[in-house]
Amino acid sequence: MAERVFIGLGANLGDARATLEAAITQLAALPATELVAASACYRSTPVDAQGPDFVNAVAELHTALEPLALLAALQAIEAAHGRERPYRNAPRTLDLDLLLYGQRLVDEPSLTVPHPRLHERAFALVPLIELAPGFVHPRLGPLAALPRPDQALERLP
Ligand code: ADP
Ligand code: MG
Repeated sequence: MAERVFIGLGANLGDARATLEAAITQLAALPATELVAASACYRSTPVDAQGPDFVNAVAELHTALEPLALLAALQAIEAAHGRERPYRNAPRTLDLDLLLYGQRLVDEPSLTVPHPRLHERAFALVPLIELAPGFVHPRLGPLAALPRPDQALERLP
């Protein structure tokens, strides 16, 4: 059965917006996966990180890929965009995070779902609420009822 899955996208090197658009096309092309919707792009200043402003967005997928297979696919797309991990929170050409996988809870060494920092980050929560205001976070309840993190965010036209 396909699950409703939300992917957080972020980039702050190169043509960040073009990278996000290419990544959304690649998500849509994954096996057993359909792109349901993509949020607007948002600009934010880095949190606990350096470098230029980030461009962020969230995509909703319907996928039959299991969470770990989906994570591997996300990492392959990151790698295709030249993602390197020289140090923690380094500037990145592309970051793809598995935010929510239906009501599923995953607690593996390489994967925690829901993403543990999702509700602390306006750049993840705000586009997510734009796409799915009625969605229920399996640990925290309805997304729209969560307090909005205090972080400047500009919705791009
Ligand atoms: P971050 O996104 O926190 O800035 P990275 O993108 O470098 O950092 O990811 C570090 C590791 O986080 C990845 O190797 C991955 O195994 C792990 N990880 C754990 N949970 C998730 C998740 N929900 N989505 C994406 N990666 C995750
Ligand atoms: Mg990541």
